[in-house]
Amino acid sequence: MKLKDKIALVTGAASGIGRATALLFAREGARVVVNDLDLAAAQKTVDEMGADGSSGLAVRADVSESAQVAAMFEEIDRALGGLDILVNNAGIAEATGDEMTKLNQRAEARINEALSGEGIRTPWDATAEMSDASWDRMIRVHLYGTFYCTRAAIPRITRRGGGSIINMASVAGLMGLEAAPHYSAAKAGMIGFTRAVAREVGSLGIRVNAICPGFIETPMTEPISPMLKMMALGQTPMGRWGDPKEVASNCLFLASEDSSYVTGQWLSPNGGLFTG
Ligand code: NAD
Repeated sequence: MKLKDKIALVTGAASGIGRATALLFAREGARVVVNDLDLAAAQKTVDEMGADGSSGLAVRADVSESAQVAAMFEEIDRALGGLDILVNNAGIAEATGDEMTKLNQRAEARINEALSGEGIRTPWDATAEMSDASWDRMIRVHLYGTFYCTRAAIPRITRRGGGSIINMASVAGLMGLEAAPHYSAAKAGMIGFTRAVAREVGSLGIRVNAICPGFIETPMTEPISPMLKMMALGQTPMGRWGDPKEVASNCLFLASEDSSYVTGQWLSPNGGLFTG
């Protein structure tokens, strides 16, 4: 039981990586707040934690909305009385369904052009065609969401004598994804924020680290076309996509005493995709 008697908040924990992390934390003895936009799905994660779901609390909040984050933390105070661990995991891959359709079409066109031997001509055009709303949504969910939750968590974790904050970034923030400039910028911003806050709160006993997963099989990556998935696989030396549990185990390491002298770092479970 690596997290016995700890209180953890995992944002976006109704699905994918967040869900796997919340379930692992509960198995390791933590009481886990499962946040999501989708309350019913968050409650399902809580129900999976134990016969009576007593080790979890589902809370609906949009992390990109300051007032909703403040209300969520007040609810956590009332229900659980504090916080030791925060995982800023809530995220989106594209701001509109249209973005994924274009991405899939262009990836397929580029692969076909490459196969034809005549050279790749189809541009990605992701930045040139980006709307203000798409850019704004992507930055708001990842960067504002991480800031709002971290700001509220620091005094609460301090009152408990210290703890751990984990920011779910991405390899996109390390290497840049050509078809997702807004996502890459948001994730790179989360890595910079991680480093700064780690320096700021180190003497309070709070460790702050980022995780930069490679391609992981979750509902977020489901809409990616088979051809684009093949392209991603071709760049991954281990020759397979990751499982959410393989990211959750990294979260447990960073949340627990196993990483007691680790702060301001990023860990990248990515099958060898990025080795920088
Ligand atoms: P997912 O879609 O399965 O889960 C994301 C969850 O976040 C969903 O339940 C969604 O409802 C919730 N969410 C979205 N916006 C929210 C908001 N504003 N407030 C609260 N909840 C919100 O996705 P996932 O693949 O598990 O992704 C989890 C995190 O991991 C994301 O930050 C993502 O960017 C990151 N990540 C994923 C991959 C991957 O390949 N799947 C790779 C690198 C990083």
